[in-house]
Amino acid sequence: MNHECGVLGLYNVQKPANKAYNALYALQHRGQESAGIFVTNGESFQGYKNFGLVRQVFDEEAIDRLDQNEPRHAVGHVRYAGAKDNIVSNIQPMFFRHLRAEFAICSNGSILNYDKLNHDLQNQGSIFQSTSNCEIMAHLLVRNSGTFLPALQESLNTLVGSYCFVIMRKNRLYAVRDPKGFMPLCYGKLGDGYVVASESCALDMLGAEFVRDVEPGEIVEFNKDGVRSHRFAPKQAGAICLMEYIYFARPDSTVDGLNVHQARYQTGMELARESAVDCDWVIGVPDSALAAAQGYAQAAGLPLQSGLIKNKYSGRSFIEPTNQKRRLAVQMKLSPIRYLIDGKSVTLVDDSIVRGTTVRQLIKMVREFGAREVHVRIASPKMIGPCFYGVDSSDYNDLIGAKKSIEGIREEIGADSLAFLSLPGLCKALGLSQDQVCTACYTEKYPTDLHDFEDFVQSLEVKKVPERWY
Ligand code: 5GP
Ligand code: MG
Repeated sequence: MNHECGVLGLYNVQKPANKAYNALYALQHRGQESAGIFVTNGESFQGYKNFGLVRQVFDEEAIDRLDQNEPRHAVGHVRYAGAKDNIVSNIQPMFFRHLRAEFAICSNGSILNYDKLNHDLQNQGSIFQSTSNCEIMAHLLVRNSGTFLPALQESLNTLVGSYCFVIMRKNRLYAVRDPKGFMPLCYGKLGDGYVVASESCALDMLGAEFVRDVEPGEIVEFNKDGVRSHRFAPKQAGAICLMEYIYFARPDSTVDGLNVHQARYQTGMELARESAVDCDWVIGVPDSALAAAQGYAQAAGLPLQSGLIKNKYSGRSFIEPTNQKRRLAVQMKLSPIRYLIDGKSVTLVDDSIVRGTTVRQLIKMVREFGAREVHVRIASPKMIGPCFYGVDSSDYNDLIGAKKSIEGIREEIGADSLAFLSLPGLCKALGLSQDQVCTACYTEKYPTDLHDFEDFVQSLEVKKVPERWY
């Protein structure tokens, strides 16, 4: 299983490894566990990948080596991994050699019928080195007797879940977005060639001209004749992951026609309309809630301050394995500015609450610095259901919103008041209707069959405690 991750493809460009490096650097926020690039000159494939950030994995020499045999195409990947599948064999892109084809694949997302497909393929003789969607796709592809494109279409139709794939053959590149379009994928023109990436910020980095988003259920093929669109699923409204706008994507990216900064700013404004509370300072939690805090302060007519400083060198707090480590990581990442806090009433605006670690720790810190009142406003709804499509909240036991009412959460995190943006408010802020988005984590209405997770969800139904009234 993969998670959000960043995928990239380049078709017909000079020094594709160099360009892939720059584009992956712009996609770094989508995955920090590992990075990789594969290139081809139409004859042979070369690649390099390892654990670490893009700049740690590749030095100039490694990039020059990849670019030395005049390659024209590349695929690249940055990987976001949960602790348990962060193993060396899962690092992407993956290269496959078969009598019928050689190809390199990278992907993101989560295949919900992975276990069944993996089991069936093993029974037919496949051997797996990884737990990656790429390997499932490679085995499905070569098992199919047709030519490449129909084989790809048919293989995709056996997958259920959220995914993007970028597949590079010797002289062709394919970009695929799942039928619901859970995660973003777009492409642009770069000189005589093309670039496809999870987010448009990677296109901007290369100076490419944005062409369009890949549509849900679409395969975009790049070959010597140009660009061709094929479908493997009917054209229908997608179910874009709301967390892309709320948290994942970079504010300078445009996802399905909506700029992410603008989206966040508007969620903040809507949040203020729903639940503004008086205070001395509105303070956004860096980095992902800053735009929402700006919108909130603007709409509420309250003063905004950068009252929390983020250490530029800190690592990730969210993915640390234990609560104690996560708390410590938050403390190392974020520090309040004492003079803005001491004796003041503050409103902290964050983008989301998952386990509650971040906001609980922040409240503790600002109280220690003398805050008189601490209000918390969250620019997304309360999460009540685990996500199986890639957002790292599938551990139900950790999900504070699944266990507690809003008042229960307020009490546990120690806030004077707490409010979440409503789901209608969120959709209104984004200008999207509820049937254009995935609302699963807020409503437990999952837009696909759950397959491997069906039993898990059934078991939750039994254990679920009715919400206490306050
Ligand atoms: P919590 O600390 O409540 O567990 O998580 C919420 C905080 O983590 C928010 O500040 C939000 O910006 C961030 N966050 C939310 N979802 C994710 C995710 O899937 N991955 C990572 N790394 N951070 C997240
Ligand atoms: Mg955050």
